[in-house]
Amino acid sequence: MNVYDSQRMADALASRHFVPVDQPDEADLVILNTCHIREKAAEKVFSEVGRLKRLKIERTRAGKGMYIAIAGCVAQAEGAEIIRRAPAVDMVFGPQTYHRLPDMISRADEQRARGQTVRVLDTDFPAEDKFDHLPGKSGHKGPTAFLTVQEGCDKFCTFCVVPYTRGSEVSRPVQAIIDEARRLVDGGAREITLLGQNVNAYHGLKVDGRSESLAGLLAALNEIDGLARLRYTTSHPRDMSDDLIAAHASLDVLMPYLHLPVQSGSDRILKAMNRQHRAEDYLAIIEKLRAARPDIALSGDFIVGFPGETDADFAATLDLVRRVSYAQAYSFKYSPRPGTPASIIEDQVDEEVKIERLAALQALLNEQQLAFNQKSVGQTMAVLLERPGKMPGQLLGRSPYNQSVHVDLHALGANGPLDEQASQSYSDHIGRLMMVDIQSAGPNSLRGRQI
Ligand code: SAH
Ligand code: SF4
Repeated sequence: MNVYDSQRMADALASRHFVPVDQPDEADLVILNTCHIREKAAEKVFSEVGRLKRLKIERTRAGKGMYIAIAGCVAQAEGAEIIRRAPAVDMVFGPQTYHRLPDMISRADEQRARGQTVRVLDTDFPAEDKFDHLPGKSGHKGPTAFLTVQEGCDKFCTFCVVPYTRGSEVSRPVQAIIDEARRLVDGGAREITLLGQNVNAYHGLKVDGRSESLAGLLAALNEIDGLARLRYTTSHPRDMSDDLIAAHASLDVLMPYLHLPVQSGSDRILKAMNRQHRAEDYLAIIEKLRAARPDIALSGDFIVGFPGETDADFAATLDLVRRVSYAQAYSFKYSPRPGTPASIIEDQVDEEVKIERLAALQALLNEQQLAFNQKSVGQTMAVLLERPGKMPGQLLGRSPYNQSVHVDLHALGANGPLDEQASQSYSDHIGRLMMVDIQSAGPNSLRGRQI
């Protein structure tokens, strides 16, 4: 979602004639769009500010100046603290106020013109909808795009900062999403990933004033000409409704891939996490999904070392992983976050134990990911070509199952090295869906040849 938000910030700033530059030393304004989900992500901000401060001093000496801004969830959670700890920072604003960026810049310019220390802080949860105040036109480029449909979370898992930093659940209206999707497709997007912290809790308003579910929204987007692929992330098991599962069987643009985090396989830990479901409930959902779409690729998130997690609890997680068999997954050591209930539980797990458990879990997940990829060898798949690959004559794209695929375009370049004209026609393929014969598989990608 930060990638999407950063693009929208660039869109908002375009009205003030800001354009993106490649290097921070060329920038009048540097925005660090931050993540607060784990401590490591949050700490990166301060080391990055240290680096930028030197550039700011150099630019100020050269009479050019630079604003340093901290945006996103670290800004939301630690606004005042950032200004205290990092005086080089000029602007701090949360994820709900970036549509006000042009105003913030004006305020900063006024303060600077008066010779004052620049200080702009905006961590409100404003009553107005930021999406209504952003330019309709997006500077998005490329065949894949993100589109935020829902923000915030009312679930309050005991380890998680999201309900505090992103606020309570809000869904955007159906028509606004369809309009934005059309604009993205007109701008060249073939695949759109719908985003939300709790995307399958989506319940946006239709023009007739009634509420629409995520399944209904997907069905509406399915009708957009030129849109070849839809995905959505991230979902919560509690909101994996039957109509959404059925959509995986009925909608041809909906890709056979689902990221459905479970966090733990132990009911005791799931309860302490306030996940509001048991391991069996999750497995029942997986079974229904596979009945609806037998080839669906599953992905998940896991936390090891949640306070009080025993060896037996961890064994239950490994057991769940074996029963599901994931195509892909993300796993993390539990990181205590300020202000969350789990952070003050006394029974915290030792760091060494967390490290060991994470290694064991990741070994199993990697094995499953490799096995999933190897099953693709010999298959023919539609690959959406996204960008040039590392090797000449190669393009990089994604399979329906969200695997990265390196595609050798032998049909164009024959066997010899490519001349310039052939290279040009290679890049013309970007944005196309191509049928590819998968020839080999590694843990993180596939390799295939254009048929
Ligand atoms: N809404 C999604 C997840 C959003 S956060 C869901 O409910 O699944 C993304 C992932 O970060 C989570 O799934 C979780 O695995 C991880 N995460 C969140 N808080 C964490 C913490 N305090 N320590 C470690 N991992 C955490
Ligand atoms: Fe965080 Fe997801 Fe739980 Fe919401 S549902 S509190 S975003 S982990």
